[in-house]
Amino acid sequence: MKMKVEHKLFIDGRWTGGGEPIPVRNKYSGEVIATIPSATRGDVDAAIAAAVRAARVMAEMPAHRRSAILAAAARLIQDRREEFARTIAAEAGKALKYARIEVDRGISTFTFAAEEAKRLHGETVPLDAAAAGEGYFGFFVRRPVGVIAAISPFNFPLNLVAHKVAPALAAGNAVVLKPATWTPLTAVMLVEVLGDAGVPPGAINLITGPGSTVGNWLVEDDRVNKITFTGSAEVGRQITARAGIKKITLELGNTSPVIVAPDADLDLVAKRAAVGAYYNSGQVCLSVQRIFSDKAVYEPFTERFLAATSAMVVGDPLDEQVDVGPMIDVREAERIEGWVAEAASAGARVAAGGRREGPVYWPTVLTGVRPDMKVVAQEAFAPVASVMPYDDFEDALRQADATPYGLQASVFTKNIDRIFQAMRWLNFGGIIINDTSTFRVDHMPYGGNRQSGLGREGVRYAMEEMTNIQMVAIRK
Ligand code: NAP
Repeated sequence: MKMKVEHKLFIDGRWTGGGEPIPVRNKYSGEVIATIPSATRGDVDAAIAAAVRAARVMAEMPAHRRSAILAAAARLIQDRREEFARTIAAEAGKALKYARIEVDRGISTFTFAAEEAKRLHGETVPLDAAAAGEGYFGFFVRRPVGVIAAISPFNFPLNLVAHKVAPALAAGNAVVLKPATWTPLTAVMLVEVLGDAGVPPGAINLITGPGSTVGNWLVEDDRVNKITFTGSAEVGRQITARAGIKKITLELGNTSPVIVAPDADLDLVAKRAAVGAYYNSGQVCLSVQRIFSDKAVYEPFTERFLAATSAMVVGDPLDEQVDVGPMIDVREAERIEGWVAEAASAGARVAAGGRREGPVYWPTVLTGVRPDMKVVAQEAFAPVASVMPYDDFEDALRQADATPYGLQASVFTKNIDRIFQAMRWLNFGGIIINDTSTFRVDHMPYGGNRQSGLGREGVRYAMEEMTNIQMVAIRK
């Protein structure tokens, strides 16, 4: 199937419907590259109704068949790898080299789902551990929840959609997908792939349009059994307020800390932290934002980090050499420009970057910041990192943990005591040692504590959240 420039919705196995067209732009040039329809209430209703019907088909589908469909999807993404990567680079502004990595991760996510589809199982339960259970045999199975609404953000238009759709289908559910309005074209391609791979009509539906209307209709509908959402904490909060009684997974933001202990390999930290802070223009939920360096190594580390920052090539994301492309929108670049200016006027030093041209914001390092500055206290979601000296390791852990968020944190050290201390003190869903907070492979349990979210993704863990336990007790 060829991608069309004027896209439609995908409901019950057909490209159809849709209200007003919404333009989708190349984020570097600003050129309109496609349109997508704004779904009407009737479209959303039809998509949910189709998913309700298809949920029965999916629940009856044998595991080997679900696995084969997901494996076929992985192969079809591989066949269109370059087309996917260029679409991501154009619509999200992600440098092509990182867009290709995202496609490879998307393939890996579908491959893990194909494997996990065969391993979904329950357990026996020794009911006779209770006196009243004597004479009973017990076990539980995992049943698909039914209809899953998947709502995704702009920053990983393929792999974050894959992390919702692949486990949902692997567990035998039907899906209504609403991708970010900034980046719907990769989702259109993925839905084409899923149709070609043999997903039954209605088991994957694509509706596009503003989250404030289309998203709300989906979230409020009682036929939807689970919402899986990745995006901002603000929208996450609105969803929990509206959803009523359904399962919810939320993958939200972070102000990722990286702690540099005095025994760290400073060259390694500087290199990895620069990639972690600036790739996708820092618009990554795990993006390196707050770097705490032991004061004994603060000067040599900062020097190396500034050199790694200045080495970043900034420009058109479709250029093979470029590391950092535009932000998703000029208003986002202006927002972070304002935050940096505010920090500078309150005494922070802009040690590198601090420059904006249209939607492009240059990799920026701040020193001399205070914890109450927006660039430190709030999710920056931009290519801006602050380096802060600390006196002792406990002080660093305390500062790193002083945030309402709790997705992933990182510590660079070779000292095992520090590693165990970090595990105890840091209330984060993931602790990464000797790499930055951005480390993620697609089968590991992944998700946030505190305001960073609810539940876990990472195919098998997402499947657990996308199934209900059904207990069976048999009186012998
Ligand atoms: P966003 O503004 O929260 O949007 C995310 C999705 O929610 C979009 O599809 C959006 O639709 C939709 N939406 C908006 N309002 C809605 C509503 N009232 N009801 C239902 N859906 C609604 O987030 P974003 O700007 O795309 O992404 C950036 C955020 O995502 C950051 O905070 C980042 O940390 C977080 N994130 C977290 C993870 C993680 O794994 N923890 C990964 C990536 C990103 P429209 O596009 O139409 O507005």
